[in-house]
Amino acid sequence: MRERVWLGQRPGYQGEGLFEKINEAFEALGVYDEIKPGMTVVLKPNLIQRSKPQAAICTHPLFTAAVGRCVKRAGGRVLIAESPGGPYTPAVMKAIFKGCGYTDMAEANGFALYTECRSREVSLPQAQRCRQVSILEPFLSGDFIINLPKLKTHGMVGYSGAVKNMFGAVPGLQKPEVHCRFPEKEDFSKALVDICAFLSPQLSVMDGIWAMEGDGPTGGTRREAGLMGASFSPYALDVCMAELAGFAAQPLPMLAECAQRGLGPKTTEEIDLLGSPQEPVRFRKARAASTDFIDKLPGPLRPAAKRWSTPWPKIGKGCIGCGKCAESCPKKAIGIREGRAEIDYSACIRCFCCHEMCPKHVVGVRRLGLFRW
Ligand code: SF4
Ligand code: SF4
Repeated sequence: MRERVWLGQRPGYQGEGLFEKINEAFEALGVYDEIKPGMTVVLKPNLIQRSKPQAAICTHPLFTAAVGRCVKRAGGRVLIAESPGGPYTPAVMKAIFKGCGYTDMAEANGFALYTECRSREVSLPQAQRCRQVSILEPFLSGDFIINLPKLKTHGMVGYSGAVKNMFGAVPGLQKPEVHCRFPEKEDFSKALVDICAFLSPQLSVMDGIWAMEGDGPTGGTRREAGLMGASFSPYALDVCMAELAGFAAQPLPMLAECAQRGLGPKTTEEIDLLGSPQEPVRFRKARAASTDFIDKLPGPLRPAAKRWSTPWPKIGKGCIGCGKCAESCPKKAIGIREGRAEIDYSACIRCFCCHEMCPKHVVGVRRLGLFRW
């Protein structure tokens, strides 16, 4: 059966128009037939770090509010759950919800915020890489999961959308462990697909109104793209939104993997588009992404080309020695000396977790001049 993706546009988050757009998506897709009164509906925004909505790092609280209001209209109970990139404790989660504008929003709308921080280890029998992992309790016990990704570029896997967002269901510092188990982009992408396929969110609604381009997922710049998308299939939604953001879907290993496993389509031609189809908006890519040309070189040249072309993290001016990068480093390659972070490059696997988690955005991405594009 062909997947359906609803596409829409909004210039911003204010006003009743956003709720009306989400309501339109729910009606077009038939979401109101799926959510039954009394269901616990778990909303999974992207709250990777504490940041103001205008930074476009996290799913905007007004976007999540509009989706939650539609859930309530269907009679569902809204629970918002997420785990950031660093430590995952009740105190940290309360601070993140507050800092991202979710505490007041949830109170105003009668939504619950999950701050108990319980998780459970599960087996993923169909997985191709990540066969064992811990998952936040609400994603295992909730009746209906709505995935609310932010449309962003990503340093390691190129693009961050619906499939990538479900990685947030893995609690805090266990995420760097997954990076450590799968340091190569291709293997890590397969692990992301394993986790998304296991969780199978029933609906995904993407916030690309204020998206992020450049050095995403946290150090890029806001792009007021005005894009919104929704689908029962996170894979089909990613194919559409990645294309709209100027990525050809196939070179992204994560989406190629989805298509290869038969989880999602290869191109938008295999998708029924609803709502108002949008013109592509070309995003500036993350500097750490893409060494795809290596696959086209003769086999014996690839290891050296990969070594020289893979970018590396560099601590820039303005480091305050807070240690967030060291907490998230899967290889414990970062030490804090004299109030400043230092990287042991002999241990670094170039996963860019430090780049993602630095609240001051001072972990830069360096690449040899020959490989800058
Ligand atoms: S690099 Fe960033 S995260 Fe690391 S210690 Fe410095 S300011 Fe903190
Ligand atoms: S130093 Fe940064 S890029 Fe290197 S392994 Fe640690 S978190 Fe990953």
